[in-house]
Amino acid sequence: MVGQRGSAVTSGGRRRPDSFQPVRCATCGHLDSKVVDSRQSDDGGAIRRRRQCLACGQRFTTFERPESLGIAVLKRSGDREPFDRAKVVAGVQAALKARPVGAGEAEALAAAVEDEMRQLPTAEVTSERVGRAVLEGLRELDVIAAVRFASVYKGFDDLSDFERELTLLTKRTAPKRH
Ligand SMILES: [Zn+2]
Repeated sequence: MVGQRGSAVTSGGRRRPDSFQPVRCATCGHLDSKVVDSRQSDDGGAIRRRRQCLACGQRFTTFERPESLGIAVLKRSGDREPFDRAKVVAGVQAALKARPVGAGEAEALAAAVEDEMRQLPTAEVTSERVGRAVLEGLRELDVIAAVRFASVYKGFDDLSDFERELTLLTKRTAPKRH
């Protein structure tokens, strides 16, 4: 759920030295947890942390990737390129053109997508995954923009994926029966 998570800069406000960004408890959503174990992930880029929620006591695992480390995007062609937030912003802005959505929303969505990718256990993500995260965020912002984005986005594996997205969108926007 991209749209529901604040970026590292805006949510919480307070940064603790042991954490790159606020981490929510996977069970109750509480923002304070203590680290009970910490180690490098298998690819060496992320830090895998075992945490315990200070509210409900549940333990959960996070992968946190410092901002100084880049994320690689694997394209369908097999090429890799560095994750480029500006590119995501440009794509989102194109989809939001002339829609009644605030000017800062494209930046915020791109930042949330980057945060999401940074919390994955790998340093490499597929372009499809990035595209889906953007689409999910757009859907919460503006359905028309989401349809636009889906219609130009070439990352889907085949047409049925695209049709499924459209069907989902149509269902959500269908008028209510009385
Ligand atoms: Zn909790």
